[in-house]
Amino acid sequence: MSADEFISRYRDVDRIRSYCLQCPGYGKSWSCPPFDFEPRTASDGFKTVRVMGATIEFDESVRASCVTAEQSSAMGKQAIDEVCQSLLPRIYEMELETPGSRCFTFRCTLCPEGCTRPEGKPCRQPELLRHSLESVGFDLVAVTHDLLGIDLEWSADGKLPKHITIVTALFMA
Ligand code: SF4
Repeated sequence: MSADEFISRYRDVDRIRSYCLQCPGYGKSWSCPPFDFEPRTASDGFKTVRVMGATIEFDESVRASCVTAEQSSAMGKQAIDEVCQSLLPRIYEMELETPGSRCFTFRCTLCPEGCTRPEGKPCRQPELLRHSLESVGFDLVAVTHDLLGIDLEWSADGKLPKHITIVTALFMA
């Protein structure tokens, strides 16, 4: 899709920021808002956008084994981290192979020991840090529904959802 069309259809920085404000992870990673830059500038200046999605499906037995909200959350995080370990190198490679491009990933999972932001220390790997689409103001519910044919599922009553979708994108010059 052209970047202009993608931005006009799916970027709504102020509305999406209001959702980020309600997230327990707000301000706890350098990949999450608030930023020391205007989020719109992260996606300005590109010609085309390629959106990619990966869906993690959980067996009924796995879902049933998560009986508390904490267990569901830990299971979801573990699955996301594992998928990101294999997905991220491929996305960084696409960015390297496409001069002038910029990838948008998921919340940053690059440091196994955790993000430095809560300690007030600088990012350990600023050259590798990439932001997620939602952190810079894109409506992922609409993006995944319209472009990937997937409806995002949320955890209800502390239960693990049937699937979690990870959305990434490559903005190209
Ligand atoms: S690279 Fe490390 S320190 Fe930087 S945002 Fe990611 S997790 Fe945090």
